[in-house]
Amino acid sequence: MSTATQIIHSIPADPLTGAIAVPIYQTSTFIQDAPGVNKGYDYARSNNPTRATLETIIAQLEEGSTGIAFGSGLAAIDAVVKLLKSGDEILAVDDIYGGAFRLFTHIYEKFGISVNYTDTTNVENVFNAVTPNTKLIWIETPTNPTLKISDIAAIAKVAKAHGCLLCVDNTFASPALQKPLTLGADIVVHSATKYLGGHSDLIAGLIVSKDKAIGEKLKFIQNATGAILAPFDSWLVIRGIETLTLRVKQHGINAQAVAEFLEQHPAVDKVYYPGLPSHVNHDIAKRQAKGFGGVVSFTLKNDSEAAAISFVTNTKLFKLAESLGGVKSLLCHPANMTHKSIPAEKRRNAGVADSLIRLSVGLEEVEDLINDLEQSFEALKNNALIENQAAIFNN
Ligand SMILES: *Cc1c(COP(=O)(O)O)cnc(C)c1O
Repeated sequence: MSTATQIIHSIPADPLTGAIAVPIYQTSTFIQDAPGVNKGYDYARSNNPTRATLETIIAQLEEGSTGIAFGSGLAAIDAVVKLLKSGDEILAVDDIYGGAFRLFTHIYEKFGISVNYTDTTNVENVFNAVTPNTKLIWIETPTNPTLKISDIAAIAKVAKAHGCLLCVDNTFASPALQKPLTLGADIVVHSATKYLGGHSDLIAGLIVSKDKAIGEKLKFIQNATGAILAPFDSWLVIRGIETLTLRVKQHGINAQAVAEFLEQHPAVDKVYYPGLPSHVNHDIAKRQAKGFGGVVSFTLKNDSEAAAISFVTNTKLFKLAESLGGVKSLLCHPANMTHKSIPAEKRRNAGVADSLIRLSVGLEEVEDLINDLEQSFEALKNNALIENQAAIFNN
């Protein structure tokens, strides 16, 4: 069965009434017939039928044993870190999501969990950086915002050899394109705020574990710490998942066209998109994923904050906002927005240049999107406040 059909039919009809849409169980508690005798639900922090349906759907999509839904992507990441104890180490991708960096560094380091960062696009770096205390390898692929690709299967082998867990933040790819558990990862996390929700109308996080025992531990953490996803937001994510394949396919078509447009533009220095043959790990991306996603990043030949700010404030269809994965196109300036919490030098070393601009290419007609970018380049060229700009365009 094709993925599209499988995804649509992974969403069950209601066995009680035949409702084709999943019911929203907006309740805090469930009546018991006798103490401890219930219909499978007792208190809605522990379990809720709408959330449970989403958890089953995402476990199926990622081909894991257990799905768990949280109030945000960061709450999901936080729950995975809680599998560790003081003295343990995390080995993480250097180009990590800013919020994950902040959580690891400013919350968990004071509890005695340390984090080492390495460029995981080369598996040898991972092999060399693991220590006897490494209990968790953390990668994103593609990364945010420079779209680096790491070889999930190769890193899974290193993790296995060292007896540590591999967790993949699969937010950028979504299960429509990439299934890390089938490549050897132990845990997948999602910011469902992005492609799974797909409409920029909610904040949610998901975990899927391959192993049932680890899934049980994570469920315990979810109930013990309480960062659950509400019934209505669970329902919104389920509704988003219904159109996931269709949306992700079109995001990819649009993003490829935008990346190709940018690559030949005279004012652009580098374009980061795994679907371009010029991308360093294009071959790995092609092998481990069915497509390249909807996020494109690029730097300007004028690598200055002023030029980037001119560009991001002059687009009309691309709205200046954090986040990605929604129907409407967005753009952001990571150095000043999503990655502001990472120290400047560390940020630049990880490839987040001062002029880096990240696009979340939406579902508008792609010609309109390209015209919008072109008119913002024109505005940059004519921006009298930025020196030598016209010369760069004429090069
Ligand atoms: C947005 C994002 C997160 C955090 O998710 P929230 O839902 O905002 O808490 C984590 N990882 C990646 C890759 C993201 O893009």
